[in-house]
Formats: sequence, structure tokens, C-alpha cells
Amino acid sequence: MDGAGAAVSSPHVLFFPLPLQGPVNCMLKLAELLCLAGGIRVTFLNTHHIHRRLLRHTDFLSRFARYPTFRFETISDGLPEDHRRTVDGFDKMMDAMDAVTKPLLRDFLASRAPTAMIADGVFGFALHVAQEAGVPLIYFETISPCALWTYLCIPKLIEAGELPFKGDDLDAKITSVPGLDSLLRRRDLPRFCRADNLSNYDIQLALREAQQIPRAHGLILNTFEELDGPVLTQIRTFCPNTYAIGPLHALFNTRLSPTRAHSNSLWEEDRSCLAWLDAQPPKSVIFISFGSHAVMSVHQLMEIWHGVANSGRNFLWVRRPGSVVEKEADFKISAELLEITKERGFIVGWAPQEEVLAHPAIGAFLTHSGWNSTLESIVEGVPMVCWPCFLDQQVISRFVSEVWKLGCDMKDTCDRVIIENVVRTVMEVRRDEFMQSANETKKSARESACKGGSSYRNLDRLIEDIKSMNI
Ligand code: UDP
Repeated sequence: MDGAGAAVSSPHVLFFPLPLQGPVNCMLKLAELLCLAGGIRVTFLNTHHIHRRLLRHTDFLSRFARYPTFRFETISDGLPEDHRRTVDGFDKMMDAMDAVTKPLLRDFLASRAPTAMIADGVFGFALHVAQEAGVPLIYFETISPCALWTYLCIPKLIEAGELPFKGDDLDAKITSVPGLDSLLRRRDLPRFCRADNLSNYDIQLALREAQQIPRAHGLILNTFEELDGPVLTQIRTFCPNTYAIGPLHALFNTRLSPTRAHSNSLWEEDRSCLAWLDAQPPKSVIFISFGSHAVMSVHQLMEIWHGVANSGRNFLWVRRPGSVVEKEADFKISAELLEITKERGFIVGWAPQEEVLAHPAIGAFLTHSGWNSTLESIVEGVPMVCWPCFLDQQVISRFVSEVWKLGCDMKDTCDRVIIENVVRTVMEVRRDEFMQSANETKKSARESACKGGSSYRNLDRLIEDIKSMNI
């Protein structure tokens, strides 16, 4: 026996996440859920770089040590040790992984012979090596399904002549994304669609994803049927075997009841902000956080800072080290702004975001509309002000404002007067309307993650399917 009643002959799942904060966090949660189900062995294949960063949490390995059927292994991402690994170098990382990690993964599959592999949907080479080794591959797309659907439709957009854009009217309607034709404007498509030629790296990557995803054994998505039903129906025309098992962190909390210190953060969390929040009135604070990759100019920083300060609201702001691309000291910060920040603001380098969003003092979330941040906000019933940056975020912010009615979309603007107005709109003028939809969506998100709920059942189906692959 290989611990906890899982015989060596029991199914063995290999996880291979994209080495970025969001995908690693999601896959770790799913890996734990599979271990918890019993009778499944899990190997989690991190890049050396990501694994080293996770090990900085003193409790990280001991948390996973409670699963005798779980093991970590590490693999090279092909980049030199001192490489900065920022998202603007994403193409370099993907090229390095294709050249170096792909052959290593091939050897890994040959020697470990897992029952199935769960890999990030961005890895085309995962499909090649899985097919060579005869290992069923289930893609896990950690981006939002609404954006994934637009990726899958990029060939249609090209065929219809909607891509590349002709002319510079970003408000022109998009008509070739079935189901979303009266919703999307050019500006709501992933930002890389604004490239003037189809040889753009991200467009080519999306085209490859659109081809490879339907060829996998299945597709896992971090969403729930009640939120994304119409989009899931469309995606299932390409990938019939789609498992909607989100919000994964809610499902995780339902099945594991984790202690609050359960973090897969790549940065050290500054928990002092929780004590600051304790001292604030209910729903008085706007939380500002732009995730793990987005960067801004000093000009944008100052517009957001003034806009939020002028809204009269208290604010908790995550300023991730390196997230401002110029030196803040080069700009003049008025004594008045510093005084307001002292009185009404709190700034940290990295926050325990899930806990912050669950705090009663939080009244709204100014977010870059990353998919994990959006789901975390949904689960806590917090209305959003969206300032999307790239990839799936443009589509998500459109859905937040126009489909789910959970807040306002500031897309393509960053002006202090607009920010002040939008914060007032979400926290005062249209507060009741947004709170009502936020509470309804929160309820259905939580129900989907509870026993009998759609995501709970879909996870059970995934577990049963993996077990049946071993027979
Ligand atoms: N996050 C966090 N603390 C912070 C900022 C972000 O724990 O101060 C987490 C957040 O809870 C989310 C993830 O980082 O799970 C960000 O993922 P998302 O998909 O929203 O954006 P990305 O980082 O991929 O742009």
C-alpha cells in the first residue's frame, strides 16, 4: 500500500500547472481535493523556481505531508536562475519550456506512467507528450470560461474578417462569437486582439489552444453552471467532456474546512491589514488589488490614488513590489494626499486576499478583473470596479458589468474624475442594486460548492472518471 489505503495500483494523477500564481494555486487546491477523495495518488510537478517560492511558507510541506498519497516533484522551466520571469516575458518562458521542459516531461511520463495528466490548457506540448505516452490528458483552463470561449472563436473571427481589426473604432460590435454577439465590442476582446497582424504571439497561442483543447480527454473549468451556463453550453459544443468545478476555493473550503493560514501565495502576506480592517465600519472600505502580474505607470498610480482619495472612502491597497514600472519618487505626491492616506488608507505589499474580501468592512473591490480575484469577490458578495489589464480580463469586466450586473467596468480609462465617480456609483449611487445581485450570485456560488450542488457533483464525476481510467 502507498499510504492512506491507496494501493500502488490505484490511479495516479500527474498535475502540471502553468508556473504562475493563479494556475499553481488552483491546481494545488484541486490536487488536495483529489487526495482527500481517497484512493488516488497525486504527483504535483512544479518548476524549480515556483517550488522554491512556495517553500518559503514554513508550513507548506507539512500541510501536504498529511496526504500520504501526495508528492511534489520539480522540473526546469528552461530559464536561467536569475531570470525575472515577469509576464511581459511570457513568450520567452513558453519558448524555453517548449525547448527544455517538453523533453523532460516526456521522460517523466515514460518513467512514472501516470493514469492521467492534468495540465494547464496553454501547454500544447502536454498534449503531444501525453499522446505519445498513451496517457489521457485533461486540460485545466484556469482563465475565465467567457474569455476561453472568445479564444475558441478566434478562427471564426479571422474567417469573418473581424480580426485583425480594420480601423480604430474599439466600440464596433463583434458578431462572430456565438451567444455573445450582442454583448461584445472590440474593446471587450482580449487585449492581444488589438494587434495589427495575426502573427502576434498571443493570437498564435490562442489559435493553437483552440485546436488542441478539443483533442484532450476532458476540460476542467473554474466556474459553476449557474454563473456560466450559456457559455458552458457553447464550450461543450467543442469539448463535450467539460467539468465545471468552481469556485474551486469555495469547494475547497466546503470539503476541507481549512484553517485560515492555508496559503499558496508566492509572496509573503502582510496580515496587519486584517487588524486595520477590524477597526473600520461595515462596508466602508474599497479594497484595491491588481493581482500577481499587472503593472502600471506612475501616472496611472497617481490617477487611481487621487480618484480613490477624492471618493471619500477608506481604502486598503495592495501595491505589489515591482508593480509600478517607474520610480514613484519621480512624481510629486502632495502633502494633502499623504495626509488622506494616513487617515483613511492602508497600503500593503501583498494581502491575504481571500480573507480580506471576506471581511465585513469591505464594501467594494477595485480589481484588474483577474479570474481568481473575480471568483473570490463573487463568493464573498463584494461588488466590483473593474480596471482590466490584459488576457481574459477585458472579457471578464464586460461580463461583470453587463451580464452578471456586479459592478462597473472602467475599461481603457484611468482618470481620477472617472475613478472617483465609479467608486461613488458602486458604493453609494447604485449600491443597493449591485448588493442585491452580489448577494444572489454569492448564494448560488456557495450552493454550487455544497454537497448536492453542481460543482460538488461535477468534481465527484471527475473523481469517478479518473478512477475508471485505471481499470
Ligand atoms: N492575491 C493575494 N494577495 C494579494 C493579491 C492577490 O493572495 O495581495 C491572490 C488572489 O487572491 C488571487 C491571485 O492572487 O487568487 C490573483 O489571481 P488573478 O487570477 O485574480 O490574477 P492574476 O494574478 O493571474 O493576474
